[in-house]
Amino acid sequence: MSKLEVPATPLESIPKIASSLRHTFASNKTKPLEYRLTQLRKLYWAIDDNKAAIAEACMKDLGKGEFETYLTESGWCLNDIIFVQRNLAKWAKEESAPDIPLMNKAMSPKIRKDPLGAVLIIGTYNFPIQLTIGPLIGAIAAGCTVLLKPSEAAPAAAAVVQKIVEAALDPSAYAIVQGAVPETTALLDEKWDKIFYTGGAAVAKIISKKAAETLTPVTLELGGKNPAIITKNADVRLAARRLLWGKTVNAGQVCVSQNYILIDKEVLPGFLDQMAAAIKEFYPNGVQKSPDYGRIIHARQFQRIKKMLDESAGKILLGGEMDEADRFIAPTVVQVENEHDSLLADESFGPIIPILPVPDLDTAIRIANDVSGTPLGLYPFGNKKETARVLNETRSGGATVNDAFFHASIPTLAFGGVGESGQGAYRGQASFETFTHRRSIVTTPNWIEGLLSVRYPPFAGTGKMKQFRAMNDMKPDFDRNGKKTPAGIIRWVLTLGGKSAGRGLIRWVVLALSIAGYQRYTGKEITSLFR
Ligand code: NAD
Repeated sequence: MSKLEVPATPLESIPKIASSLRHTFASNKTKPLEYRLTQLRKLYWAIDDNKAAIAEACMKDLGKGEFETYLTESGWCLNDIIFVQRNLAKWAKEESAPDIPLMNKAMSPKIRKDPLGAVLIIGTYNFPIQLTIGPLIGAIAAGCTVLLKPSEAAPAAAAVVQKIVEAALDPSAYAIVQGAVPETTALLDEKWDKIFYTGGAAVAKIISKKAAETLTPVTLELGGKNPAIITKNADVRLAARRLLWGKTVNAGQVCVSQNYILIDKEVLPGFLDQMAAAIKEFYPNGVQKSPDYGRIIHARQFQRIKKMLDESAGKILLGGEMDEADRFIAPTVVQVENEHDSLLADESFGPIIPILPVPDLDTAIRIANDVSGTPLGLYPFGNKKETARVLNETRSGGATVNDAFFHASIPTLAFGGVGESGQGAYRGQASFETFTHRRSIVTTPNWIEGLLSVRYPPFAGTGKMKQFRAMNDMKPDFDRNGKKTPAGIIRWVLTLGGKSAGRGLIRWVVLALSIAGYQRYTGKEITSLFR
């Protein structure tokens, strides 16, 4: 079935490749910060050198125009690398434990940022560069070794990804396997320290089951039936333009694009007029002729989308044109009768825009929750009170208020799903964190042994319980009705080192003065308090 432009990796070589990545990780080669930064910077230049090849490949695979490819693929990765390498030293630094009790300070509790190990990244076809190289950037930054498996459904892009990785990166630490189900299955038979998967939910279940056999952690970046909700107080012109954009980028093959629109019936006619006007404005010479409108990835996906449309009981109001030989489907606005329509039953992952008119916001929120559960994105349009209510009464991986998926376009904002739309997140610092283990470390100094002797038996009849509780117990700052009580001076002093260094310092000074004052006026040592 493979239409790969690069040959599939021989199955028998996969165990050796995986084992060499585990071996390189164990050698600690990828851990030094300078090594990681060098790899990232080389990757930057290899992507930059291959911008034209990326544009050509995305045009070949998805009919993606030059602007869109720069915006969502090459330009995106280039900026991400610059941002990550600029901030990496700060993110990779050890953190000390926040707001620890005085007794624990001596152990200098801290969190190391350790790379997870040898990781497997499985990419998908719709953003074939961004969705493979994006996680790769995070894994390199974290200090992992990486096996990258691009999607076979975007073969030209898969070939360019291979060219970039081989040109830029240390081959002992970063490898590519090309192929489809047999190759991915062979990869899943190997032991990884993390599997990062982008794609559909059915395959995510196969991957999760396989990962569970070896307790391998997974990040799952999946899709969803993302709702848009338009209230009667929304600006319908903006809503139409923005939602049309959300469904025409990559011909609707975007995991975060809205899958359906719930609109207050009062504003439906105005919204439809604006949608028609926006289609004309965006594609003045017709959509199919536009160099800026993409194509469906392959015949199977074309047929799937067509079937959804054929089975719909809705009425096509705009668009509807299809050309199988060209894998072209026009942006198609369909007014559906109810939430059980085929166009709401599944993610369309294509340029279909089902619209369901609703009587009020209550109904819209109920349908969004019933149909979508935990989608990847959610898009409320309305006044502030209404959009706040929508956010409060729904769940989703992310959301954009008053626009299509803009939250997914902010490279410094963690991106990921919840529930059915996935688990884990990446982008910017989150990319580093998703491949990092926060390893908790304490160092017990020799001199503290006297104080620690409270933990050693014998306990009975020694008064150690009292001593321990005096040193250890925290006082509740709430009463039996669950109400917060005012902070006591002792608790305030004992939780030294507040959020800001300044506050911590003030508390230390207050503590020192209190001890001095106590000793001076009572004539007793402060330690008598704990005896
Ligand atoms: P796809 O066909 O490219 O498959 C994804 C990956 O899974 C490929 O690398 C493929 O080789 C592998 N795969 C396929 N079948 C497999 C099997 N049986 N065993 C092991 N591996 C297998 O893409 P797709 O799954 O059709 O992707 C589309 C879905 O991805 C949509 O639901 C979309 O919403 C979702 N998506 C999510 C994100 C996100 O970031 N959350 C981004 C893009 C796409």
